[in-house]
Amino acid sequence: MASLSDLPIRDDLRGLTPYGAPQKHVRYALNVNENTHPIPEPVAREIIESLAHAVLTANRYPDREFMELRESLARYLGHGLTADHVWAANGSNEIIQQLLQAFGGPGRSVLGFPPTYSMHPIITAGVGSAWVTADRDAGFDIRPETAVRAIEQHRPDLVFLCAPNNPTGTGLALETIEAAYDATDGIVFVDEAYAEFMPKDKPSALTLLPGRERLVVSRTMSKAFAFAGVRVGYLAADPVIADALRLVRLPYHLSALTQAAAVAALAHAPEMLAMVDDIASQRDRIVAELPALGYRPWPTEANFVLFEGVENPQATFRALLERDILIRDVGIPNTLRVTAGTAEETSFFLESLAALGPGGAR
Ligand SMILES: *Cc1c(COP(=O)(O)O)cnc(C)c1O
Repeated sequence: MASLSDLPIRDDLRGLTPYGAPQKHVRYALNVNENTHPIPEPVAREIIESLAHAVLTANRYPDREFMELRESLARYLGHGLTADHVWAANGSNEIIQQLLQAFGGPGRSVLGFPPTYSMHPIITAGVGSAWVTADRDAGFDIRPETAVRAIEQHRPDLVFLCAPNNPTGTGLALETIEAAYDATDGIVFVDEAYAEFMPKDKPSALTLLPGRERLVVSRTMSKAFAFAGVRVGYLAADPVIADALRLVRLPYHLSALTQAAAVAALAHAPEMLAMVDDIASQRDRIVAELPALGYRPWPTEANFVLFEGVENPQATFRALLERDILIRDVGIPNTLRVTAGTAEETSFFLESLAALGPGGAR
């Protein structure tokens, strides 16, 4: 078999590693922040019905502008947004890719604040842009002046913020987003994949959109909506942003089946989101119970918890896997990350961790 080095691959891709969260069949899959609750059966039936209709006309290309879906997404988001403000793709990862194809590309740079979502640098590399980084403040926070200083130092073409931040769970103040926007002429991108899990009184970056045509806020149906397998991500921004993305997207990039499934699910948003409060309460339970086991959980506004005090993360990861629990080693020393699932999943995780003793497996 040939190896990559035998191919005339781009020089800047040599030596890179692809996204690689382990995909294992386990009873307790708490590693990629999916919604562990299944889609409610009555909603699943309605989705199947609209898929059936879409199949009957699948000899034709789908609506290239996916207007019905954009109208549904705008209605779901509220904040006075219309279909023109919304754009969708096959997961928010594709949203990010299109954004980088339009505003990044070779010779341009993207500023990020690690530890953050691992796909941000990978998609950046994929379009040939440079990923430049700046440190966070204590507690993984990013203060407005920290963002401004990094922007003045690096002069990036795009600034990537993740709120709440994956893998730490840290929330982000709107003041930081506003300050970043004022400090750059580039695009400010806020990844709100976990927005539905934020405290109810916490404002979204969507509230900052009016008058800021370089601000882009992305969301996904993969997490709160229990729709990871369908692949639907979307953004809200000034309508001119969609004009830019039309230049780089592939025609008909959202299949008729994807559009049909998403529209049907959004028509039942309250049922699809019914488990969000429950998941948030399991998350809060993990945060409340970990200290008694000798761990230090970081404050989190998402559906996962990053916790410190793990003596040997790889050994503890493996010991939990032996009990059919898959969590995530995100590469931060002495920490692991776990997704909040059902009450039963949470109990089994906490009991299993307790059984390993203080500090986890050696
Ligand atoms: C999970 C996640 C996404 C979701 O990506 P999709 O392509 O929509 O499944 C996006 N951003 C962050 C920060 C995530 O953690």
